[in-house]
Amino acid sequence: MISALRPSRFMPPGHNRIDVSFEFFPPKDEAMEKTLWDSVERLAPLHPSFVSVTYGAGGSTRERTHATVKRILHETGLTPAAHLTCVEATRDEIDAIVRQYHDAGVRHIVALRGDPVSGAGARYQPSPGGYENAADLVRGIKRVSSDFEVSVSAYPERHPDSPTLEADIDMLKRKVDNGATRAITQFFFENDLYFRFLDRVRARGIDIPIVPGILPVQNFHAAKNFATRAGASVPAWLAERFAGLDDDPATRKLIAAAVASEQVIDLLDRGLTSFHFYTMNRADLVYAICHLLGLRPAVQQAA
Ligand code: FAD
Repeated sequence: MISALRPSRFMPPGHNRIDVSFEFFPPKDEAMEKTLWDSVERLAPLHPSFVSVTYGAGGSTRERTHATVKRILHETGLTPAAHLTCVEATRDEIDAIVRQYHDAGVRHIVALRGDPVSGAGARYQPSPGGYENAADLVRGIKRVSSDFEVSVSAYPERHPDSPTLEADIDMLKRKVDNGATRAITQFFFENDLYFRFLDRVRARGIDIPIVPGILPVQNFHAAKNFATRAGASVPAWLAERFAGLDDDPATRKLIAAAVASEQVIDLLDRGLTSFHFYTMNRADLVYAICHLLGLRPAVQQAA
């Protein structure tokens, strides 16, 4: 089912299979709910190593994350990873959420600082009585239960709050020292940026997998806005590829598939075997790219 690949310097020895993970966001209404579950159903047979669910600001958004994670756990054979941030909550409140996840059977958390409630770009202030940052949160999660697997973020192009890339890598090191065992990167469009970052991370003695976050461009203008807020660069060649296609969704989709395939195949050729997809709750492009990577739905056994 899965193609065997040459061993990679980026993964633990002996690891020679492709693994993928898919990120979803919790739906806001019934229509979005249907889109999400149709996508989960379509992608599930590809056997991702986990599917993660993002976490927002505000009580109702958070409830939707918890509900989505629990539904994945109970109604699918998938392994959920719950995103969690330090925003607007005390340590006790966050610890209680972590305990609830543990009681429900969740064993993987993506631990993040999060953005200020007023939005990315505003100055971040830790919540009174809350976890200071993502490294602090990782420690708190591990304190609740050491059997949690904890993933964290990494920023090949520097996080916008960070004065230097070195400061980012220092933060990554603190997260790893506190128990994180996987980093998922912010999306990027130039693979060389990822490899330069990886060299610096490895030189700093960080040896956990740094899984590339791949954003298939469902909508170029939305992706560009998202990139600006996230501090990710959008190369001129990418804008050029989507230029003039605003009213041509069919061609846009073909271009999006070509762009993402080119990126992922290049990463594969350069030895990577793990990929995290920002699905935006849409399955088509991600499914096609996974097919290119050699992933096939598991064959159903006859009864
Ligand atoms: P960290 O890794 O803790 O920090 C990033 C950098 O900023 C570090 O260099 C750090 O030193 C620096 N820094 C942190 N705080 C300060 C400060 N006060 N002053 C100066 N420098 C500082 N957001 C959500 O709200 N929900 C999600 O579910 C979510 N999922 C994500 C998943 C992934 C894979 C990624 C890459 C990002 C995700 N985000 C999510 C976005 C993330 O919350 C924001 O980028 C946030 O601004 C930083 O959180 P972090 O844990 O990535 O930061």
